[in-house]
Amino acid sequence: MKKATAIIAALGLLLSLAACAPAEHTRSFFAMDTYMELRAQAPEEVLARTEELIRSMESQLSVTLPGSDIYSLNETGSARVSDRTLALCRRALEICGETDGALDITVYPALRAWGFTTGSYRVPGPEELAALSPLVDYKSVALEGGTVTLPRGAMLDLGAVAKGAAGDAAAELLRQSGVKSGLVNLGGSVTCIGSKPDGSDWRVAVRDPVGQGYAAVLSVSDVSVVTSGGYERFFEEGGITYWHILDPKTLAPARSGLISVTVVGPDATRCDGLSTALFVMGAEKAAEFWRRSGDFEMLLITREGKIIITRALAERAEYRSGYGEELEVLSRD
Ligand code: ADP
Ligand code: MG
Repeated sequence: MKKATAIIAALGLLLSLAACAPAEHTRSFFAMDTYMELRAQAPEEVLARTEELIRSMESQLSVTLPGSDIYSLNETGSARVSDRTLALCRRALEICGETDGALDITVYPALRAWGFTTGSYRVPGPEELAALSPLVDYKSVALEGGTVTLPRGAMLDLGAVAKGAAGDAAAELLRQSGVKSGLVNLGGSVTCIGSKPDGSDWRVAVRDPVGQGYAAVLSVSDVSVVTSGGYERFFEEGGITYWHILDPKTLAPARSGLISVTVVGPDATRCDGLSTALFVMGAEKAAEFWRRSGDFEMLLITREGKIIITRALAERAEYRSGYGEELEVLSRD
């Protein structure tokens, strides 16, 4: 008798919980040059506001949109920017320092020379790149009050952290609106809020960097998963592939032996900055960097298709389409 009452009470509780959670909605749109998708147990209006927020961040951070904070800064060399832009500059500069310039948010003049900003791709000559090299130095960016100032000719680009920052802001807005379960997928930058409505982990796919489909699927909750890959934006000339992640030391596409870097951690902005930086560093330096840090996990894919993954993440990974046969699991000891 007692047992039956307990079961009925438990069922009642479950039913009332289910009744409390709003229905799940999805919303997809194109922003920051990528296809984005929001999914959450929230009214549609909340997702609409989240899209608005991402669009407003794009209009402040875009390097190609006239009138954005960054566009104005690059045009004049000095500009007052929004608090949000300023905070992101500050955070990005921290990561530039921490990664010893593997991330460098002043690499933009070189990115432009390669045509990555316009799609009119070309291979600049060594003299041209050498001439641009004095302009690339994140240490030359001055933040004072609400104003950012650059040396003459230098340019800023927050493209390596913008989607992560948008992911953090979107997730924060959703959480503040009471969302307990949701997924913010900003094309290569995924932020999980809680777990799936049924309580199981979200399954986040890591794209196969050379073929179709997935290289791995990660079962995670309440973290961000950000991937940088040489396949996101690239062109081919004379049988050589050139991609949009540049090594700030050479101003040429980073050829570190990695073709995909996924960083998993609590902060999407940091994951985004690190995924770009670790791509530039290559496997060995990335492993050293990870051993010194305590706040992220990573999955690296080498040009040969080998997977290098940190131990805690390995326990949450399944491999697809021929990956995982060659596998190295990193541990701290
Ligand atoms: P995606 O935006 O394609 O997901 P990333 O997060 O890796 O990929 O960011 C790549 C963007 O960052 C480039 O499009 C460019 O704007 C910028 N970028 C490229 N190389 C660097 C670098 N070494 N440091 C900082 N920013 C970079
Ligand atoms: Mg990045």
